[in-house]
Amino acid sequence: MAERTPALVTDLLHSGEALAERLRDALRDEQWLDAYLLAVGLGQMADDRLHADLLLLHRAASYLDGNPSRQTQLAAAAASCAGKLYAAAWAGANPAIRRLARARQPLAELTSLLADQVMAPARISDPSQFTALLQASVSAISSVAGDRMRVPTAFHSFDQHPDDARWQVRAFMQRYPERRGPLCVVGVRTSGSYLAPLHAAAFRACGESSVDVLTYRPGRPFLRSERAVLSAVARSDGWVLIADDPPATGTALAKTARAVAEAGVPASRIVFLISIFGTAEQLPAALRDWAAVVQPWADWSIHDRLACEPVRRTLADLVGPEMEVREVTTLGTPCPADERGHVRARFTVRLADRGTGEEMRRDLVVEGAGLGYLGRQGVAIANAIADHVPHVYGFADGLLYRDWLPPVTRPGSGAPAAALAEMVASYVYARRKSLPAPSASVASLAGRDPAWEVAAKVLSGQYGQLSVPARPLLLEPLIRRLLEHEQPTVLDGKTDVRHWLPDPLLAGELRKADFYQRAFGHHDLASYDPVFDLAGAAADPPTHDFEQQVRRAYQRVSGDEVDGERWLLYRLAQLWRLGHAGDLGRLDVKQRSAAAVHDYLAELYLRGLPPATGPLCAIDLDGVLECHALGFPATSPTGALALRALVAHGYRPVLATGRSVLEVRDRCLAFGLAGGVAEYGAALYFDGESVDLRPAQSRVLLDRVRDQLSRHAAVMVDPQYQYSVRASWGGGPLPADIVNEIRSLGAAETRIVHGDRQTDIIATGIDKGSGLRALAALMSDPGCAFAMGDTASDIPLFAGAQLARAPRNADFGDCAVSVQRTRHAYQAGLSEACSDLLGHRPGRCPICRPSAFAPRTKAVLTILDLRANGLASVGRETAALGALAVTRRHW
Ligand SMILES: [Zn+2]
Repeated sequence: MAERTPALVTDLLHSGEALAERLRDALRDEQWLDAYLLAVGLGQMADDRLHADLLLLHRAASYLDGNPSRQTQLAAAAASCAGKLYAAAWAGANPAIRRLARARQPLAELTSLLADQVMAPARISDPSQFTALLQASVSAISSVAGDRMRVPTAFHSFDQHPDDARWQVRAFMQRYPERRGPLCVVGVRTSGSYLAPLHAAAFRACGESSVDVLTYRPGRPFLRSERAVLSAVARSDGWVLIADDPPATGTALAKTARAVAEAGVPASRIVFLISIFGTAEQLPAALRDWAAVVQPWADWSIHDRLACEPVRRTLADLVGPEMEVREVTTLGTPCPADERGHVRARFTVRLADRGTGEEMRRDLVVEGAGLGYLGRQGVAIANAIADHVPHVYGFADGLLYRDWLPPVTRPGSGAPAAALAEMVASYVYARRKSLPAPSASVASLAGRDPAWEVAAKVLSGQYGQLSVPARPLLLEPLIRRLLEHEQPTVLDGKTDVRHWLPDPLLAGELRKADFYQRAFGHHDLASYDPVFDLAGAAADPPTHDFEQQVRRAYQRVSGDEVDGERWLLYRLAQLWRLGHAGDLGRLDVKQRSAAAVHDYLAELYLRGLPPATGPLCAIDLDGVLECHALGFPATSPTGALALRALVAHGYRPVLATGRSVLEVRDRCLAFGLAGGVAEYGAALYFDGESVDLRPAQSRVLLDRVRDQLSRHAAVMVDPQYQYSVRASWGGGPLPADIVNEIRSLGAAETRIVHGDRQTDIIATGIDKGSGLRALAALMSDPGCAFAMGDTASDIPLFAGAQLARAPRNADFGDCAVSVQRTRHAYQAGLSEACSDLLGHRPGRCPICRPSAFAPRTKAVLTILDLRANGLASVGRETAALGALAVTRRHW
């Protein structure tokens, strides 16, 4: 049945206050499913308060937990333990917490009644009992008024349904027919908080009289009262059921089971109630030590609702009495849209206009959208931006009905990049105008991966081991303020260009698919800034200049400037998201993150300089122009300023590196450099082309090396390296036996260079020096004024240069080399060497001085410059950043 249309909302991250308001409305309108979801949302916020992460100790523990060193592991354990002790003391002593715990009770009763109503709808003779319970919990609600709810993955990003809870409960009863004693369902927050009361209601419907419901946050202790419930269940030979959304790794479920066992429940009486994507045999290994009732994918109730007849009935309701649905035919079996996500099925339907008799055929997609108001928001969004999305027929029982858009093979294929950029920009602007989120707040979402937190996470790489204190104390508050904005909007969240598809009913005009499911999902970074959606389209661009095109198009259509800092921070956050969700490969994330930093620096330091024609300056990348602190190789403001000074004074900087032609090309394009030597002299990038410098016989040999390495499953060969072979083994260089295999293929024709993270196999007879000479020859031999490098492979560069320098961090191994070292390391060393060449420090004369920067620009430049002189610069730059942070209220 199509649901009666209640108020449509688009922003799902409600405050407690808004949630309570909507709960009142839903009770009044007898929208029991919505009322249930809203009541759980409120209860979950109150539970979060009761289990508060005091002093952020648990969060510190989770930051540390990802860090493999022994000390940090111990610190993580200590932080977590301190958090538990403090929480125990707090819960006992704080009167406000005791009051909240009492006021939580009537809300739990209301939730329980509503769960019964969802599982077995009955005529309600006295609706005032519901409102009375809500009234009794008003003090609990007021204590969470400003908090933000968490969206349950089970009912928002996946297609779980109350019927699935019923399935699991029946399966449990069948498996344990002789079981006696009370039951307690423990829901693992967040999905479990929404599932557990439904399980309890299903048990009650089967005649069970004593069913408790608790929630659990992995890593945070049960409260004393909760432990008492578990002990009582254990004493009466009862059972504890644990509920959550389909497990990926199962870690949270396993942690919960251990916590329940620690509270005194025998392991043999702990059973998981879960649905999974796949078959019961695919249960994650972490869960196999426990009993589990597993609903396999094939048995999810969503499949019943996607059969032709229910789809026909629902569609008939949605299109109204003027239209007749004559036939619905399925086109293939439904499949999950993503590996772990909503299901999607295609149908062909014949519709007829009852007035005119005109018949039409439509291809439809019926896709999982979320339960109740969590899914119905898709319709609200489609109504608001109807010109930009496929036609939506409506929403019913977790499914959204819309016109089908045929997939395309290439991202945005068919539309030229410029037209696609216009389309994306106008879409983002349309959302900004039509989907405002006036009460939005991301400041209170700390710990839940809002965009500002992720941008801070990426940049905190500059602090290395010190990122744990630096992130919450310095970077997060600063970046949150840098990303403040005035147009809070309900975002799309999935704006990479492959989601714009041609609509066959509109002569192939592009429409945005997946326009409502992602902004609040479990892989999504909370943000209300339209520029964040725009940056999502630029994160994985179809062409090199798409990023600029889409930014300019948005500036034109909106009249707003997209400043460089916001653009950089959002690009980095979007790339992190794509990498984290597995939508973009690790190498691509690194390459594009570096491009984001370089585009930003180039705009500030290198735009508008006259083309240089003078002698060459050969600069190595790793350890000189670039460092790796951010998790990807990139230069710093100090490095960019050195390039600026060289170009402004007529020199021509070129790159001389072991890295791939692709990476050299990226930097030449970003910085406007003439060219570079790549892959240790095996190739050049010059004038838009790559040039192969290898002797003919070694090309064949390198192909054989590549072939040989491909036989080792554990060896990773970097596909970006086409003129040499870059291979790694377990994240490090190749082991001796594999190196010997390669040597046996032709020791005389290959040179093997071991780095920290990889082994490079290069043709003999070429080096960076020969590469530089070849590059100079292509440029009519302007001469080499300056060379700088930090390893033995750079020594051949020094011979032909008038001035040669090595940074303080240089390591030439056993090689004898008489090059002068700078006092500073990395880009600070490069800057110092440029001073020797130019006679003044880069940026200190009217010719090479950059224009003055705004305070927000200075702040981001300071962060990017933290490691310009290695660890030696971190202290001073942090002090500068701290001073900027305390003196500025607005950016
Ligand atoms: Zn100058």
